[in-house]
Amino acid sequence: MKVLKFGGTSVANPENINKVKSILAQQKEQQIAVVVSAFGGVTDVLLNASQAASQQDINYKNSLKAIEDRHISAIRELIPVKSQSAALSKVKSELNVLETLLEGSFLIGEITPKLSDKIVSYGELLSSFIISEFLKSEGLDAVYKDSRELIKTDNHFGKANVDFVTTNANCKAYFESAEHQITLLPGFVASSKSGNLTTLGRGGSDYTAAIIAAAVDADMLEIWTDVSGMYTANPKLVKQAKCVAHISYQEAMELSHFGAKVLYPPTIQPVLGREIPIAIKNTFDPENPGTLVAKNTNGNGKTVRGISHVGNISLLSLEGPGMIGIPGISKRFFETLSVKNISIVLITQASSEHSICVGIADQDVDVAAEAVNETFEFEISTKKIKPVIVEKDLTIVALVGDNMKSHQGLSGKMFSTLGKNNVNIRAIAQGASERNISAVIKKEDVKKALNSLHETFFEENIKQLNLFVMGVGNVGSKFLAQIRQQKKYLKEELKLNVRVIGMSNSRTMAFDENGISLKDWESILEQGEPADKQKFFDRINTLNYRNSIFVDNTASEEVSKSYASYLKNSISVVTCNKIASSSDYAYYKELKQLAKQYNAPYLFETNVGAGLPIIDTLKHLIASGDRVRKIQAVLSGSLNFVFNTFDDSTTFHDVVKQAQEQGYTEPDPTIDLSGVDVMRKILILARESGHQLDIDDIENESFLPKESLDTDSNEAFFESLKKYEDDFQKLYSDAAAKDCKLKYVAQFEDGKAKVGLQQIPKGHDFYNLEGSDNIVLFFTDRYVNQPLIIKGAGAGADVTASGIFADIVRIGNF
Ligand code: ADP
Ligand code: ASP
Ligand code: MG
Repeated sequence: MKVLKFGGTSVANPENINKVKSILAQQKEQQIAVVVSAFGGVTDVLLNASQAASQQDINYKNSLKAIEDRHISAIRELIPVKSQSAALSKVKSELNVLETLLEGSFLIGEITPKLSDKIVSYGELLSSFIISEFLKSEGLDAVYKDSRELIKTDNHFGKANVDFVTTNANCKAYFESAEHQITLLPGFVASSKSGNLTTLGRGGSDYTAAIIAAAVDADMLEIWTDVSGMYTANPKLVKQAKCVAHISYQEAMELSHFGAKVLYPPTIQPVLGREIPIAIKNTFDPENPGTLVAKNTNGNGKTVRGISHVGNISLLSLEGPGMIGIPGISKRFFETLSVKNISIVLITQASSEHSICVGIADQDVDVAAEAVNETFEFEISTKKIKPVIVEKDLTIVALVGDNMKSHQGLSGKMFSTLGKNNVNIRAIAQGASERNISAVIKKEDVKKALNSLHETFFEENIKQLNLFVMGVGNVGSKFLAQIRQQKKYLKEELKLNVRVIGMSNSRTMAFDENGISLKDWESILEQGEPADKQKFFDRINTLNYRNSIFVDNTASEEVSKSYASYLKNSISVVTCNKIASSSDYAYYKELKQLAKQYNAPYLFETNVGAGLPIIDTLKHLIASGDRVRKIQAVLSGSLNFVFNTFDDSTTFHDVVKQAQEQGYTEPDPTIDLSGVDVMRKILILARESGHQLDIDDIENESFLPKESLDTDSNEAFFESLKKYEDDFQKLYSDAAAKDCKLKYVAQFEDGKAKVGLQQIPKGHDFYNLEGSDNIVLFFTDRYVNQPLIIKGAGAGADVTASGIFADIVRIGNF
């Protein structure tokens, strides 16, 4: 014999019920018991209705109406017209009783656990009746049997305890004489010896099926649900979760105890003793083998088999000096909770005996706290013990696996993963079986915690990077194109899955939790919500993804001021915007410090030399113990372009105009022409070499007349260039007369930096620098006479984008 159970989603509507029928029609066994849940969601609606009625809220009638409509329309769709009226009248009369019960509760403004059970039982009672009528009408050899006649419990309403002796005897007797192939039964409901209706707790239909399977010593228990088995983590929260093909009873029990709702925790107990295997299968993908829960599967050497979580947990802690060495405190503490019927999900006790801390359901915590305070009233009044401390809205995440006990270092790995992702751990417990390690965290961190743990323990290979890109102009759009082009390579070769979760320009912003399509990002952004920098930040924070990276492609000072907030939330920052790193030394230092403290890199390779690996090389030199003695560099692509193009056949004005038009200068060309941009770059290099310097410490002898520098618009600036054309021509002819070229050079030596125009003679490393190229010479303790030279294109959207890209990959390998 075999027992099958179909859950709420599997019987949510006529279409799904037809799928159930197809599965049943293929069953070969002589005898099967089929347990069904209420139509998906109906239990919740019933509970809400009774809640509303008991609070004298007339809206309970709407819920009732919805329930009526669902069941009646199911009959109309499923059952042939000729037998419809009998089914309809039976269901309508049941619904009338339900209505009376709710009305009663409404009138007296109260609900008892007993009445609540009665009301909620209609979900299963109605669904099982309708489904059995449907199966019969489809020609299946089916009969209805009311579980209340078989399963006997005590009177603990809401979650009754089963009397197995009577129940087993009832089930055995019934199935031994059953004449039909299929017996269809409602899950969840039972009755007490005194004849009251009882229920087996939320999710209890699984339990009904297991109780029957054990009683008749079935060959197999099949749990048919809406996922293809038990997964390495809840597949609704962790996209990469995988189905576990085989799992031991104990592991399955532990996972379900810690929240893997796919199996109601008590389900395993009855079948465990008889070693009846449980298959977890998907009604919507019946061919999928799903999960087999059986005795000691060896788990293919896997240590951690799954990660689960239980929400709505509160921590209740009792502490105080009066607890040390005094026997009986724990006993009194636990007795108090037990008397109040409060179940404990997790226990931790510090070895100092200074405190006891338990995790219990949020809904129990107020009662628990009051009871414990009462028990220890005397100790509290004499200040030996403090009043209980309550922390609400927490979640337990647990790693589960049979083989965990023989492995060291798992908890270290678990906690360092959580720590790295800035998930604060409130309490830790390890089951004595060492089959689980659990941590209590804030509920906002759950998704991040599950996904990072899953990444660590199940996908060691692929690391997900979640990007939030601000600024999608020249550089930003090139950057997005590069990610799109390299996505496959990054995944296959570097094991990095790079997704852009959010983006913004100055007008709009858009988010997609699964990654914005990099093919259609322009139209997606166009249709996005209005841009708002604070909201952008808030959104990233709320999403709370692991490995989040904020990418700043703007030149905005306001944006650069937000980096600290990002880093403080463990969001890495990659930027081509130089303002932050060249602002006050204190801010630069703070950002570096925050990056370290929160494990979130702050990278700005493109601040100097666009895509050239200048800062990275410098970091490597320093990390390996080298020391920078001198830096000489041409760091302005714009100025290099200007002085390479300018000669006596052109005008300085026209060349600068051309540079601006071709995108070689900042939008405000004075930032380049004044040398400020170069000052910022040499400042950053000096700082990265380990020197404390500020922009005012840098000497800058401008070649521009003061009047040009002081202009307040681009037009005025260009006008002034015309006025001083003769001076510019003289700069050129003086250099040409000496066979020199003009280069705008930055230099750092002996802790001092300066920038300015220089005449560079033939043979010098800088002489042949073309177009908008950059060059840097590092003279160090190791590179004494021959400097380390980095040279190449130092401006342009494409190379800048590839520099940002390189920073992203660096974080990926971090
Ligand atoms: P049913 O109505 O069929 O009893 P449930 O909703 O009670 O279904 O249980 C199935 C759900 O359990 C899945 O849809 C999934 O969201 C959730 N779940 C939580 N953890 C796990 C896990 N580790 N593996 C599979 N499903 C899980
Ligand atoms: N219908 C009940 C519930 O939703 C029992 C079950 O579906 O297992 O909790
Ligand atoms: Mg369930």
